[in-house]
Amino acid sequence: TRYVYRFGGGVDDGGQGDRNLLGGKGANLDGMAAIGLPVPPGFTITTDMCTRYYVDGGKYPESLNAEVANGIAHIEGITGKRFGDAADPLLVSVRSGARASMPGMMDTVLNLGLNDETVIGLANTSGDERFAWDSYRRFIQMYSDVVLELDHGAFEEALEIAKEDNGYTLDTELTADDWKTLVAEYKALVQKLWNKPFPQDVHDQLWGAISAVFGSWQSERAKVYRRLNNIPGEWGTAVNVQAMVFGNMGETSATGVAFTRDPSTGENAYYGEYLINAQGEDVVAGIRTPQYLTLAARERAGAKPLSMEEAMPETYAELAKVFEILETHYRDMQDIEFTVQQGKLWMLQTRSGKRTAKAALKMAVDMAHEGLITEEEAVARVDPAALDQLLHPTLDPSAPRDVLTKGLPASPGAASGLIVFDADTAERRAELGDAVILVRVETSPEDIHGMHAAKGILTARGGMTSHAAVVARGMGRPCVSGAGGISIDGKTKILRVGGRELKEGDILTIDGSTGEVMAGEVPTVQPELAGDFGTLMVWADKVRRLKVRANAETPQDCKVAREFGAEGVGLCRTEHMFFDAARITAVREMILADSEKGRRVALDKLLPEQRDDFAQIFMVMAGLPVTIRLLDPPLHEFLPHGEAEFEEVAKGAGVSVDTLKRRAAELHEFNPMLGHRGCRLGVTYPEIYEMQARAIFEAALIVKARGGEAPIPEIMIPLVATRKELELMKAIVDRVAAEVFEEQGNSVDYLVGTMIELPRAALKAGEIAEVGEFFSFGTNDLTQTTIGISRDDAGRFLTQYVDKGIFARDPFVSIDVEGVGELIELAAERGRKTRPGIKLGICGEHGGDPASIAFCEQTGLDYVSASPYRVPIARLAAAQAAL
Ligand code: ADP
Ligand code: MG
Ligand code: MG
Repeated sequence: TRYVYRFGGGVDDGGQGDRNLLGGKGANLDGMAAIGLPVPPGFTITTDMCTRYYVDGGKYPESLNAEVANGIAHIEGITGKRFGDAADPLLVSVRSGARASMPGMMDTVLNLGLNDETVIGLANTSGDERFAWDSYRRFIQMYSDVVLELDHGAFEEALEIAKEDNGYTLDTELTADDWKTLVAEYKALVQKLWNKPFPQDVHDQLWGAISAVFGSWQSERAKVYRRLNNIPGEWGTAVNVQAMVFGNMGETSATGVAFTRDPSTGENAYYGEYLINAQGEDVVAGIRTPQYLTLAARERAGAKPLSMEEAMPETYAELAKVFEILETHYRDMQDIEFTVQQGKLWMLQTRSGKRTAKAALKMAVDMAHEGLITEEEAVARVDPAALDQLLHPTLDPSAPRDVLTKGLPASPGAASGLIVFDADTAERRAELGDAVILVRVETSPEDIHGMHAAKGILTARGGMTSHAAVVARGMGRPCVSGAGGISIDGKTKILRVGGRELKEGDILTIDGSTGEVMAGEVPTVQPELAGDFGTLMVWADKVRRLKVRANAETPQDCKVAREFGAEGVGLCRTEHMFFDAARITAVREMILADSEKGRRVALDKLLPEQRDDFAQIFMVMAGLPVTIRLLDPPLHEFLPHGEAEFEEVAKGAGVSVDTLKRRAAELHEFNPMLGHRGCRLGVTYPEIYEMQARAIFEAALIVKARGGEAPIPEIMIPLVATRKELELMKAIVDRVAAEVFEEQGNSVDYLVGTMIELPRAALKAGEIAEVGEFFSFGTNDLTQTTIGISRDDAGRFLTQYVDKGIFARDPFVSIDVEGVGELIELAAERGRKTRPGIKLGICGEHGGDPASIAFCEQTGLDYVSASPYRVPIARLAAAQAAL
């Protein structure tokens, strides 16, 4: 096997530049050299060598020696200098470079090849003694730090003392003799800290640096980074050895970094910084303030020191040409490192640059318009998850923040407002025109009106799929959940965090995209939805196969969903409509009635309200399918609290408070999530589903009668485990439909289907499809019932499960493809076998998760349904899944 690939001076061993083998840096150095750009010659030792190095217990194969020698000879041939030559020495840099850019890897060593003899040769050939000794002291310092891993503080201290003794403030004031003295001190330091003299043999230096690069692959920092970013340990890193060029050879030399477009705005303008008479890390190290690359940027910033465009116009023009060549070649915005040695430009690195979500969007659309990439590539370039940031207000990045604590980034966007501790106060203050942040230990369905009224929600407990998180995402309200650092005293209305106390009415800011909780107001910036965003969505829609629907239950949510491009409602949860203040009493009467007759009296009060709800939704969603789930949650969620509420219900129902309380106690369940809920309610109290079905059909006919497009109700029965359950429920719906159509002398098309959210339902999907006309995978419940983990309690331990690699990702956020996914595939297959073309969709939180959407595409589902604000993300992710 070959382990060394040379580049530069017309030699191109790497061919097409395979980044898996050569690492990102090596592949692009090779690539730049191959298209004729000025790259100092060098060679790359492959990532395979790294892997083998570990397999063989830190040893190299014998052949490597000759290959490296051959690589050095290649550099010598082109530069005309010899490695270790006392008269005219070749110096090299040793650089690590994994496939993906990776912090935690060994830092670059520059000026390798200097020793007590070659430094004199360098002084002579360059005619600059100060430069030579400056380079030597840099080399000893870097090598000691990076390769020998000695305490770098000691070296910095020695330099500081040297400056103090001479009365200097800047490094640039040190003379050749000063550097010489410092080099002697550095060597003494190495002897003292390492118990060995600084290596004088240049080959020892080189192999020391190579081994340090390979060794750093298994450093703790690198391992942690890999784990967090899902980079496999087998990938390995490459080592790049390259001839040095010098940006520190006086006023005609410089070093810099640049982006071919602005990485924060996406604007098509060069962006970068450079420093005259400097080397390598000086630009980023912050020792001197770098200067602007372009005149325009300097003027905009009102800065004095000349831009490169002004100070070195010819080299700048050459650099600008290289920018164009690189963008055309790599067909993306490039992040570039370069050095100018006495007026001559050298390219040291290029890679696709990191960018903000905003810039990613603008660049993708611009580049497609420029013809640099296709529309499909533009669609593939934008990370759907990052799109989330663009759809919500964000914190002004330049504003100061007083961060109190951090919770989970449960629903994106930022918001500021007065602290309130309960939903009623939230509603009242909001009506008075105040912006409020609702702060709760956790939220429950009774808090919905307060959540609606609030600008943002903060909870002390609960995970990414807690009630607060799910509802907030659905409403598009920013939410930070599970902020364990806060404690809430509901009685005294005090929020404690890190030794500080905040009262009701104090101002708080939350950032639901990062989980940060801040004291005081931090200004926010509004999103921009027109323009590039709209264009990209049009392109995405051209390639996507999956339909995208929204989970929405209010006309307002439906409107937002349509604006974001939803093609229907995939989940309308009817229970949310029951919490409305105007009807909760009737709902409670219904629940607490102890006879069918009593329930029917209460249901008659609810019917017109439900009918009106559905009519409004059908108006907004005219012509599109609307999946309505009949009542699902355990009834006790609606029970009255406190004496006043009981009295109110007692009055309405005409029974005593004591009777009611006895009935409420009977409704207690030990495990309500697996209790009397879902279609089990319909089985025991068919009149509830009857009323809901009637409300749906009457509403549909009202809307149809108005002459608009008829709605397409899809009536969905929750928590079905058996065919028989669905049969019974469907019979009710069909009977009511026939009655209503008969009464009104008119009809609409409708479907009756079921949620697949129990493993038994998935297994028996073949039978269930004999009755059900569509399936909607309720992946929240299906995940909790398949894995047997309660989503409301998972927060306490699930992070550990992810940290320990038991799950790659939180299965409530991203579908557990192997387990839950297999059930979905199986159910889809069995359902289709019985009823070819059966409509299949998912309506869990996963409907807005790009990885889960990719799974839905593979499984051939018809649609995904996500909360309104995630509809654009789902559209883009569905398009990418189809590419
Ligand atoms: P990183 O991956 O941290 O960016 P690099 O290997 O790119 O590390 O090296 C950092 C800097 O060192 C480069 O940006 C460049 O300025 C300098 N450098 C690396 N190799 C050379 C070289 N052969 N000649 C001159 N400077 C170099
Ligand atoms: Mg670099
Ligand atoms: Mg469910």
